[in-house]
Amino acid sequence: MKTTLRATALTGTLAISLMGMGCATEKPAQTPETSASKAEGTPGPAAAEKGLRLYVFECGDIEVSDDAIFHANLNTPGVKRHLIGSCYLIVHPKGTMAWDTGLPDELATKPEGIKAMKDLFTLRVKKTVASQYQAIGVAPDSVKFLGISHMHQDHRGNVGLFPHSTLLVQKEEYESVLGPDSLKFGNDPAAYPTLKANPVKKLEGDFDVFGDGSVVIKRALGHTPGHQALFLKLPKTGNILLSGDLVHFTDNWKARGVPAWNFDKERTIKTMQETDQFLQANHATLWIQHDYEQSATLRHAPGFYE
Ligand SMILES: [Zn+2]
Repeated sequence: MKTTLRATALTGTLAISLMGMGCATEKPAQTPETSASKAEGTPGPAAAEKGLRLYVFECGDIEVSDDAIFHANLNTPGVKRHLIGSCYLIVHPKGTMAWDTGLPDELATKPEGIKAMKDLFTLRVKKTVASQYQAIGVAPDSVKFLGISHMHQDHRGNVGLFPHSTLLVQKEEYESVLGPDSLKFGNDPAAYPTLKANPVKKLEGDFDVFGDGSVVIKRALGHTPGHQALFLKLPKTGNILLSGDLVHFTDNWKARGVPAWNFDKERTIKTMQETDQFLQANHATLWIQHDYEQSATLRHAPGFYE
């Protein structure tokens, strides 16, 4: 989803506190190797020495007063919709990768939430991302890669926690959020002041993050200029695709609904069709990151998937 909570709402405090929080989380980097000796048999990244792990975090709560805005082809005006924000940590024997970072942790200080998108959305943060990383013994500033599905605020809200991670984004997305025309794309670099200093690998297609086919970024354009999804081959769980905002909830997926604010409607529909074929060919399950009902069925951190 897109929110209009931008620099105007939180500029100063957001910039300062995000950087401050980055510092607050500084402590000796805890890698899978270093945590193994003391964390045997407990939740944490230790067992990733043996294989792949996926941690699921709750990274925002979103109430929508009219879900018709997500799919004009369905006649559902005035229907309320509850969405969740999701973000993830992948622990691979060769390193760690964050996938999306949720709404800004600062919203946790506003339990009543804030309004966005002409009051259509009420945004809340009930658990901070920082606290959920802390609970599994991983310092965000030790994470090797930072994959962002796209740069809407509910996905990049805590990028400041990951100042050392190599950003993995499609070239078009990077240009639209940090390039000279970012404001024309509705993006304000002042809202994510640390990001330009991150090392970056600009992608121009799919990317096999660890070189073994188990963690693959999939180019999935349409929602934004350089939107992407994440394919995971988990040995015990099976193959899954983390949706980014290719779709927002299950009915939306079935109806091939395209939100009014998508960057390219035709490309979105084409990507949905290609994704459907990909899911079938790879026997993969689509995990829709904003789907509240689906999220409620998942095991959240400190538990994990293997
Ligand atoms: Zn979103």
